[in-house]
Amino acid sequence: MAAPVTAQDNSDWAWHDANGLSRVINVNGTMTSLGASRVHPDVARATAAAMGHFLRIHELQSKASAAIAALTGAEAGCLTASASAGITLAVAGCITGLDPARAEALPRNPGPRSEVVVQAGHLCGYGAPVSTAVELAGGIVRSIGQSTLAMDHQLRGAIGPQTAAALYVVSHHVVHYGQIPFARFVDICHAAGVPVIVDAASEYDLQGFVAAGADLAIYSAHKFMGGPTAGIIAGRRDLVRAAYLQNIGIGRGMKIGKESMAGAIRAMEMWMVRDHAAARATERAALEMWMAQLAGIPGIMPRIMPDPTGNPLDRLQVDVDPAGSGSTAAAIARHLAGLDPAIIVRNHEVELGYFQLDPCNLAPGQAEIVGRTLREVLLSARNIPQSPEDADDARNGGVESYLNWLA
Ligand SMILES: *Cc1c(COP(=O)(O)O)cnc(C)c1O
Repeated sequence: MAAPVTAQDNSDWAWHDANGLSRVINVNGTMTSLGASRVHPDVARATAAAMGHFLRIHELQSKASAAIAALTGAEAGCLTASASAGITLAVAGCITGLDPARAEALPRNPGPRSEVVVQAGHLCGYGAPVSTAVELAGGIVRSIGQSTLAMDHQLRGAIGPQTAAALYVVSHHVVHYGQIPFARFVDICHAAGVPVIVDAASEYDLQGFVAAGADLAIYSAHKFMGGPTAGIIAGRRDLVRAAYLQNIGIGRGMKIGKESMAGAIRAMEMWMVRDHAAARATERAALEMWMAQLAGIPGIMPRIMPDPTGNPLDRLQVDVDPAGSGSTAAAIARHLAGLDPAIIVRNHEVELGYFQLDPCNLAPGQAEIVGRTLREVLLSARNIPQSPEDADDARNGGVESYLNWLA
Protein backbone atom coordinates (compact mmCIF):
# COMPACT_ATOMS: atom_id res chain seq x y z
CA MET A 1 0.00 0.00 0.00
CA ALA A 2 1.19 3.47 -0.82
CA ALA A 3 1.75 6.41 1.50
CA PRO A 4 -1.20 7.16 3.78
CA VAL A 5 -3.53 9.92 2.72
CA THR A 6 -5.51 11.68 5.42
CA ALA A 7 -9.28 12.00 5.61
CA GLN A 8 -9.08 15.64 4.56
CA ASP A 9 -7.95 14.56 1.13
CA ASN A 10 -11.26 12.83 0.45
CA SER A 11 -12.35 15.51 -1.96
CA ASP A 12 -9.68 14.65 -4.51
CA TRP A 13 -8.53 11.31 -5.83
CA ALA A 14 -5.05 11.03 -4.30
CA TRP A 15 -6.02 8.08 -2.13
CA HIS A 16 -7.69 6.17 -4.95
CA ASP A 17 -4.81 6.81 -7.32
CA ALA A 18 -2.14 5.91 -4.77
CA ASN A 19 -3.86 2.59 -4.08
CA GLY A 20 -4.83 1.76 -7.63
CA LEU A 21 -8.56 1.89 -6.93
CA SER A 22 -11.17 3.13 -9.39
CA ARG A 23 -12.63 6.54 -8.62
CA VAL A 24 -16.16 6.52 -7.26
CA ILE A 25 -18.70 9.27 -6.66
CA ASN A 26 -21.46 7.97 -4.43
CA VAL A 27 -24.94 9.34 -5.14
CA ASN A 28 -26.48 6.04 -4.08
CA GLY A 29 -26.51 6.14 -0.29
CA THR A 30 -24.60 4.78 2.66
CA MET A 31 -23.84 1.44 1.03
CA THR A 32 -21.49 -1.17 2.45
CA SER A 33 -20.46 -2.03 -1.11
CA LEU A 34 -19.25 1.56 -1.62
CA GLY A 35 -17.53 1.99 1.73
CA ALA A 36 -20.56 3.06 3.82
CA SER A 37 -19.79 6.73 4.52
CA ARG A 38 -17.12 9.40 4.52
CA VAL A 39 -15.80 9.72 8.03
CA HIS A 40 -15.21 13.18 9.48
CA PRO A 41 -11.48 13.88 10.12
CA ASP A 42 -12.16 14.12 13.89
CA VAL A 43 -13.64 10.62 13.82
CA ALA A 44 -10.66 9.36 11.81
CA ARG A 45 -8.32 10.97 14.35
CA ALA A 46 -10.15 9.33 17.29
CA THR A 47 -9.80 5.99 15.51
CA ALA A 48 -6.11 6.52 14.83
CA ALA A 49 -5.44 7.69 18.41
CA ALA A 50 -6.80 4.44 19.84
CA MET A 51 -4.63 2.24 17.66
CA GLY A 52 -1.39 2.65 19.60
CA HIS A 53 -2.66 1.71 23.07
CA PHE A 54 -3.66 -1.14 25.31
CA LEU A 55 -6.74 -0.64 27.41
CA ARG A 56 -9.47 -2.57 29.18
CA ILE A 57 -12.02 -3.25 26.48
CA HIS A 58 -14.94 -3.47 28.95
CA GLU A 59 -14.08 0.04 30.10
CA LEU A 60 -14.26 1.37 26.54
CA GLN A 61 -17.60 -0.45 26.06
CA SER A 62 -18.82 1.31 29.25
CA LYS A 63 -17.87 4.64 27.69
CA ALA A 64 -19.75 3.53 24.57
CA SER A 65 -22.77 2.67 26.72
CA ALA A 66 -22.78 6.17 28.18
CA ALA A 67 -22.46 7.73 24.71
CA ILE A 68 -25.27 5.54 23.37
CA ALA A 69 -27.47 6.42 26.35
CA ALA A 70 -26.87 10.14 25.76
CA LEU A 71 -27.59 9.77 22.05
CA THR A 72 -30.70 7.58 22.24
CA GLY A 73 -32.21 8.16 25.68
CA ALA A 74 -31.86 4.43 26.38
CA GLU A 75 -30.68 3.02 29.72
CA ALA A 76 -27.59 1.46 28.21
CA GLY A 77 -25.90 0.35 25.03
CA CYS A 78 -23.01 -1.52 23.50
CA LEU A 79 -21.15 -1.64 20.22
CA THR A 80 -20.58 -4.52 17.88
CA ALA A 81 -19.29 -5.12 14.35
CA SER A 82 -22.37 -3.93 12.45
CA ALA A 83 -26.11 -3.42 12.78
CA SER A 84 -26.61 -6.88 11.34
CA ALA A 85 -24.44 -8.28 14.13
CA GLY A 86 -26.45 -6.10 16.53
CA ILE A 87 -29.68 -7.82 15.50
CA THR A 88 -28.08 -11.23 16.02
CA LEU A 89 -26.70 -10.33 19.46
CA ALA A 90 -29.98 -8.68 20.49
CA VAL A 91 -31.93 -11.81 19.55
CA ALA A 92 -29.36 -13.98 21.33
CA GLY A 93 -29.57 -11.83 24.44
CA CYS A 94 -33.35 -12.19 24.48
CA ILE A 95 -32.99 -15.97 24.14
CA THR A 96 -30.33 -16.55 26.82
CA GLY A 97 -30.66 -13.67 29.26
CA LEU A 98 -27.57 -13.37 31.48
CA ASP A 99 -26.88 -17.11 31.55
CA PRO A 100 -23.36 -17.76 30.23
CA ALA A 101 -23.97 -21.48 29.76
CA ARG A 102 -26.96 -20.75 27.55
CA ALA A 103 -24.95 -18.11 25.66
CA GLU A 104 -22.22 -20.68 25.01
CA ALA A 105 -24.83 -23.15 23.71
CA LEU A 106 -25.85 -20.85 20.83
CA PRO A 107 -26.60 -21.32 18.05
CA ARG A 108 -26.71 -25.10 18.58
CA ASN A 109 -29.18 -25.16 21.45
CA PRO A 110 -31.33 -22.07 21.93
CA GLY A 111 -33.72 -23.96 24.19
CA PRO A 112 -37.50 -23.95 24.04
CA ARG A 113 -37.92 -20.14 24.03
CA SER A 114 -36.35 -19.28 20.69
CA GLU A 115 -39.03 -17.87 18.37
CA VAL A 116 -38.79 -14.33 17.05
CA VAL A 117 -42.03 -12.90 15.72
CA VAL A 118 -41.70 -10.75 12.58
CA GLN A 119 -44.31 -9.37 10.20
CA ALA A 120 -43.95 -10.99 6.77
CA GLY A 121 -43.67 -7.55 5.17
CA HIS A 122 -40.64 -6.83 7.35
CA LEU A 123 -38.66 -9.89 6.23
CA CYS A 124 -36.48 -7.82 3.96
CA GLY A 125 -32.91 -7.99 2.79
CA TYR A 126 -30.32 -5.24 3.27
CA GLY A 127 -27.57 -7.05 1.38
CA ALA A 128 -28.36 -10.19 3.37
CA PRO A 129 -31.71 -11.42 4.66
CA VAL A 130 -32.74 -10.06 8.07
CA SER A 131 -33.98 -13.59 8.81
CA THR A 132 -30.36 -14.79 8.62
CA ALA A 133 -29.40 -12.33 11.36
CA VAL A 134 -32.08 -13.92 13.56
CA GLU A 135 -31.14 -17.48 12.67
CA LEU A 136 -27.43 -16.96 13.39
CA ALA A 137 -28.47 -16.61 17.04
CA GLY A 138 -30.40 -19.87 16.94
CA GLY A 139 -33.63 -17.89 16.67
CA ILE A 140 -36.55 -19.29 14.72
CA VAL A 141 -38.37 -16.72 12.61
CA ARG A 142 -42.11 -16.82 13.25
CA SER A 143 -43.53 -14.85 10.35
CA ILE A 144 -47.00 -13.38 10.78
CA GLY A 145 -49.49 -12.23 8.17
CA GLN A 146 -48.77 -11.91 4.48
CA SER A 147 -46.33 -9.57 2.77
CA THR A 148 -48.85 -6.72 2.46
CA LEU A 149 -51.05 -7.33 5.48
CA ALA A 150 -50.36 -8.17 9.10
CA MET A 151 -53.13 -7.93 11.68
CA ASP A 152 -53.19 -7.45 15.44
CA HIS A 153 -54.77 -10.85 16.13
CA GLN A 154 -52.05 -12.56 14.09
CA LEU A 155 -49.37 -10.99 16.28
CA ARG A 156 -51.27 -11.89 19.45
CA GLY A 157 -51.84 -15.42 18.21
CA ALA A 158 -48.18 -16.02 17.34
CA ILE A 159 -46.93 -15.13 20.83
CA GLY A 160 -46.58 -17.87 23.43
CA PRO A 161 -44.15 -19.45 25.87
CA GLN A 162 -41.88 -20.23 22.89
CA THR A 163 -41.48 -16.51 22.03
CA ALA A 164 -38.12 -14.94 22.84
CA ALA A 165 -38.64 -11.57 21.15
CA ALA A 166 -40.44 -9.68 18.41
CA LEU A 167 -38.53 -7.87 15.68
CA TYR A 168 -39.73 -4.68 13.99
CA VAL A 169 -37.84 -3.49 10.91
CA VAL A 170 -37.85 0.16 9.85
CA SER A 171 -36.50 0.55 6.33
CA HIS A 172 -37.26 1.55 2.78
CA HIS A 173 -36.79 -2.17 2.10
CA VAL A 174 -39.95 -3.21 3.97
CA VAL A 175 -43.54 -3.10 2.75
CA HIS A 176 -44.96 0.33 3.54
CA TYR A 177 -48.63 -0.42 3.97
CA GLY A 178 -50.71 -2.98 5.77
CA GLN A 179 -48.16 -3.32 8.59
CA ILE A 180 -48.92 -3.04 12.30
CA PRO A 181 -47.99 0.46 13.52
CA PHE A 182 -45.05 0.50 15.92
CA ALA A 183 -47.03 1.68 18.98
CA ARG A 184 -49.61 -1.09 18.54
CA PHE A 185 -46.87 -3.66 17.93
CA VAL A 186 -45.21 -2.66 21.22
CA ASP A 187 -48.54 -2.69 23.12
CA ILE A 188 -49.38 -6.23 22.01
CA CYS A 189 -45.87 -7.58 22.66
CA HIS A 190 -45.52 -5.92 26.05
CA ALA A 191 -48.96 -7.11 27.17
CA ALA A 192 -47.54 -10.62 26.67
CA GLY A 193 -44.17 -9.79 28.27
CA VAL A 194 -42.28 -10.08 24.97
CA PRO A 195 -39.37 -7.68 24.32
CA VAL A 196 -39.39 -5.69 21.07
CA ILE A 197 -36.20 -5.36 19.04
CA VAL A 198 -36.20 -2.60 16.41
CA ASP A 199 -33.91 -2.70 13.41
CA ALA A 200 -33.54 1.02 12.76
CA ALA A 201 -30.10 0.68 11.17
CA SER A 202 -30.61 3.47 8.69
CA GLU A 203 -32.93 5.78 10.64
CA TYR A 204 -32.10 9.31 11.76
CA ASP A 205 -34.60 9.06 14.61
CA LEU A 206 -32.27 7.91 17.37
CA GLN A 207 -34.67 8.49 20.26
CA GLY A 208 -38.21 7.87 19.02
CA PHE A 209 -38.23 4.07 19.06
CA VAL A 210 -36.75 3.80 22.55
CA ALA A 211 -39.16 6.49 23.76
CA ALA A 212 -42.05 4.57 22.19
CA GLY A 213 -41.15 1.38 24.05
CA ALA A 214 -38.48 -0.46 22.03
CA ASP A 215 -36.62 -2.75 24.41
CA LEU A 216 -33.61 -2.82 22.09
CA ALA A 217 -32.99 -0.55 19.10
CA ILE A 218 -30.23 -1.23 16.58
CA TYR A 219 -28.42 1.42 14.51
CA SER A 220 -25.47 1.49 12.12
CA ALA A 221 -22.64 3.83 13.14
CA HIS A 222 -21.36 3.94 9.56
CA LYS A 223 -24.46 5.22 7.82
CA PHE A 224 -25.72 8.80 8.18
CA MET A 225 -23.79 9.21 11.45
CA GLY A 226 -20.51 9.03 9.55
CA GLY A 227 -18.71 6.69 11.92
CA PRO A 228 -16.46 3.73 11.25
CA THR A 229 -18.17 0.41 10.55
CA ALA A 230 -19.96 -0.53 13.78
CA GLY A 231 -23.35 -1.55 15.11
CA ILE A 232 -25.06 0.25 17.97
CA ILE A 233 -27.33 -1.65 20.36
CA ALA A 234 -29.38 0.66 22.62
CA GLY A 235 -32.01 -0.25 25.14
CA ARG A 236 -32.94 -1.88 28.44
CA ARG A 237 -29.90 -2.42 30.64
CA ASP A 238 -30.65 -6.10 31.34
CA LEU A 239 -31.07 -6.92 27.65
CA VAL A 240 -28.03 -4.87 26.57
CA ARG A 241 -25.97 -6.78 29.15
CA ALA A 242 -27.33 -10.07 27.81
CA ALA A 243 -26.51 -9.03 24.23
CA TYR A 244 -22.99 -8.04 25.30
CA LEU A 245 -22.50 -11.39 27.06
CA GLN A 246 -22.74 -13.09 23.66
CA ASN A 247 -19.14 -12.06 23.02
CA ILE A 248 -18.21 -15.28 24.86
CA GLY A 249 -19.99 -17.22 22.11
CA ILE A 250 -21.52 -16.31 18.77
CA GLY A 251 -20.49 -12.66 19.19
CA ARG A 252 -16.79 -13.49 18.91
CA GLY A 253 -16.90 -13.44 15.13
CA MET A 254 -18.80 -10.15 15.27
CA LYS A 255 -16.42 -8.37 17.59
CA ILE A 256 -15.56 -4.73 17.34
CA GLY A 257 -12.04 -3.46 17.96
CA LYS A 258 -10.87 -0.52 20.06
CA GLU A 259 -10.32 1.63 16.97
CA SER A 260 -13.88 1.30 15.70
CA MET A 261 -15.27 1.82 19.20
CA ALA A 262 -13.26 5.01 19.67
CA GLY A 263 -14.40 6.26 16.26
CA ALA A 264 -18.04 5.33 16.81
CA ILE A 265 -18.09 7.10 20.19
CA ARG A 266 -16.63 10.23 18.58
CA ALA A 267 -19.15 10.03 15.71
CA MET A 268 -22.04 9.79 18.20
CA GLU A 269 -20.74 12.78 20.15
CA MET A 270 -20.36 14.78 16.96
CA TRP A 271 -23.83 13.81 15.75
CA MET A 272 -25.35 15.43 18.85
CA VAL A 273 -23.71 18.79 18.18
CA ARG A 274 -23.69 18.75 14.38
CA ASP A 275 -25.25 21.64 12.46
CA HIS A 276 -27.97 19.51 10.86
CA ALA A 277 -29.66 22.51 9.23
CA ALA A 278 -26.44 23.39 7.40
CA ALA A 279 -26.11 19.80 6.13
CA ARG A 280 -29.71 19.89 4.87
CA ALA A 281 -29.05 23.23 3.13
CA THR A 282 -26.00 21.81 1.32
CA GLU A 283 -28.02 18.79 0.19
CA ARG A 284 -30.89 21.02 -0.91
CA ALA A 285 -28.53 23.18 -2.98
CA ALA A 286 -27.24 20.08 -4.79
CA LEU A 287 -30.78 18.89 -5.52
CA GLU A 288 -31.83 22.27 -6.89
CA MET A 289 -28.72 22.55 -9.03
CA TRP A 290 -29.40 19.09 -10.51
CA MET A 291 -33.07 19.97 -11.09
CA ALA A 292 -31.98 23.02 -13.07
CA GLN A 293 -29.36 21.10 -15.04
CA LEU A 294 -31.81 18.36 -16.03
CA ALA A 295 -34.66 20.72 -16.92
CA GLY A 296 -35.83 20.51 -20.53
CA ILE A 297 -33.95 17.32 -21.50
CA PRO A 298 -36.32 15.24 -23.65
CA GLY A 299 -37.80 12.23 -21.86
CA ILE A 300 -36.15 13.08 -18.52
CA MET A 301 -38.39 14.04 -15.61
CA PRO A 302 -36.50 15.03 -12.46
CA ARG A 303 -38.34 15.61 -9.19
CA ILE A 304 -37.37 15.97 -5.56
CA MET A 305 -38.64 13.08 -3.43
CA PRO A 306 -38.80 12.76 0.36
CA ASP A 307 -37.21 9.75 2.06
CA PRO A 308 -39.72 6.87 2.28
CA THR A 309 -39.23 6.25 6.03
CA GLY A 310 -39.39 9.92 6.96
CA ASN A 311 -35.67 10.54 7.41
CA PRO A 312 -34.97 14.27 7.04
CA LEU A 313 -33.44 13.96 3.59
CA ASP A 314 -34.63 14.32 0.03
CA ARG A 315 -33.35 12.73 -3.15
CA LEU A 316 -33.63 13.59 -6.81
CA GLN A 317 -35.71 11.04 -8.67
CA VAL A 318 -35.00 10.89 -12.39
CA ASP A 319 -37.83 9.26 -14.33
CA VAL A 320 -36.74 8.16 -17.79
CA ASP A 321 -39.24 7.90 -20.62
CA PRO A 322 -37.58 5.59 -23.17
CA ALA A 323 -39.57 7.05 -26.08
CA GLY A 324 -38.51 10.62 -25.31
CA SER A 325 -34.96 10.04 -24.10
CA GLY A 326 -33.96 7.19 -26.39
CA SER A 327 -32.72 5.11 -23.47
CA THR A 328 -33.79 3.43 -20.25
CA ALA A 329 -33.13 4.23 -16.61
CA ALA A 330 -31.28 0.91 -16.27
CA ALA A 331 -29.00 1.55 -19.26
CA ILE A 332 -28.24 5.09 -18.09
CA ALA A 333 -27.46 3.95 -14.53
CA ARG A 334 -25.16 1.27 -15.87
CA HIS A 335 -23.44 3.74 -18.19
CA LEU A 336 -22.85 6.25 -15.35
CA ALA A 337 -21.28 3.49 -13.24
CA GLY A 338 -18.81 2.80 -16.05
CA LEU A 339 -17.45 6.35 -16.26
CA ASP A 340 -14.28 7.65 -14.61
CA PRO A 341 -14.99 8.75 -11.98
CA ALA A 342 -17.84 6.26 -11.72
CA ILE A 343 -21.13 7.87 -10.75
CA ILE A 344 -23.05 5.30 -8.73
CA VAL A 345 -26.73 6.22 -8.60
CA ARG A 346 -29.44 4.72 -6.41
CA ASN A 347 -30.74 2.01 -8.69
CA HIS A 348 -32.54 -0.58 -6.58
CA GLU A 349 -35.88 0.14 -8.31
CA VAL A 350 -34.40 0.85 -11.73
CA GLU A 351 -36.60 -1.72 -13.47
CA LEU A 352 -39.52 0.61 -12.71
CA GLY A 353 -38.00 3.24 -14.99
CA TYR A 354 -36.21 5.60 -12.65
CA PHE A 355 -33.08 6.07 -10.60
CA GLN A 356 -32.38 8.43 -7.74
CA LEU A 357 -29.51 10.68 -6.70
CA ASP A 358 -28.73 10.84 -2.98
CA PRO A 359 -26.90 14.07 -2.09
CA CYS A 360 -25.78 13.02 1.42
CA ASN A 361 -22.38 11.51 0.70
CA LEU A 362 -20.77 13.99 -1.67
CA ALA A 363 -17.31 15.40 -1.16
CA PRO A 364 -16.87 19.11 -1.95
CA GLY A 365 -17.05 19.72 -5.70
CA GLN A 366 -18.67 16.39 -6.52
CA ALA A 367 -22.24 17.73 -6.83
CA GLU A 368 -21.01 19.87 -9.73
CA ILE A 369 -19.32 16.91 -11.43
CA VAL A 370 -22.50 14.84 -11.05
CA GLY A 371 -24.76 17.54 -12.49
CA ARG A 372 -22.50 18.37 -15.41
CA THR A 373 -21.88 14.71 -16.30
CA LEU A 374 -25.53 13.77 -15.95
CA ARG A 375 -26.64 16.57 -18.25
CA GLU A 376 -24.10 15.54 -20.89
CA VAL A 377 -25.01 11.86 -20.65
CA LEU A 378 -28.76 12.44 -20.72
CA LEU A 379 -28.61 14.82 -23.69
CA SER A 380 -27.08 12.02 -25.77
CA ALA A 381 -28.81 9.12 -24.00
CA ARG A 382 -29.87 7.53 -27.29
CA ASN A 383 -26.21 6.68 -27.97
CA ILE A 384 -25.94 4.50 -24.86
CA PRO A 385 -26.00 0.82 -25.84
CA GLN A 386 -29.01 -0.98 -24.40
CA SER A 387 -29.44 -4.58 -23.45
CA PRO A 388 -32.32 -6.54 -21.91
CA GLU A 389 -29.92 -7.40 -19.08
CA ASP A 390 -29.31 -3.77 -18.03
CA ALA A 391 -31.49 -4.04 -14.92
CA ASP A 392 -30.39 -7.55 -13.94
CA ASP A 393 -27.48 -6.63 -11.69
CA ALA A 394 -29.54 -4.18 -9.64
CA ARG A 395 -32.46 -6.61 -9.54
CA ASN A 396 -30.22 -9.43 -8.39
CA GLY A 397 -28.75 -7.39 -5.56
CA GLY A 398 -25.17 -7.32 -6.84
CA VAL A 399 -24.69 -11.08 -6.40
CA GLU A 400 -22.96 -11.21 -9.77
CA SER A 401 -20.16 -9.03 -8.42
CA TYR A 402 -19.49 -11.61 -5.72
CA LEU A 403 -19.45 -14.40 -8.26
CA ASN A 404 -17.14 -12.45 -10.56
CA TRP A 405 -14.71 -11.55 -7.78
CA LEU A 406 -11.32 -13.25 -8.41
CA ALA A 407 -12.99 -15.36 -11.06
C1 LIG B 1 -28.02 -1.23 6.53
C2 LIG B 1 -29.08 -1.98 7.23
C3 LIG B 1 -28.77 -3.08 8.02
C4 LIG B 1 -27.37 -3.62 8.11
O1 LIG B 1 -26.54 -2.70 8.70
P1 LIG B 1 -24.97 -3.01 8.83
O2 LIG B 1 -24.54 -2.09 9.91
O3 LIG B 1 -24.36 -2.68 7.52
O4 LIG B 1 -24.85 -4.44 9.19
C5 LIG B 1 -29.77 -3.72 8.70
N1 LIG B 1 -31.04 -3.30 8.62
C6 LIG B 1 -31.39 -2.24 7.87
C7 LIG B 1 -32.81 -1.82 7.83
C8 LIG B 1 -30.42 -1.54 7.15
O5 LIG B 1 -30.75 -0.48 6.39
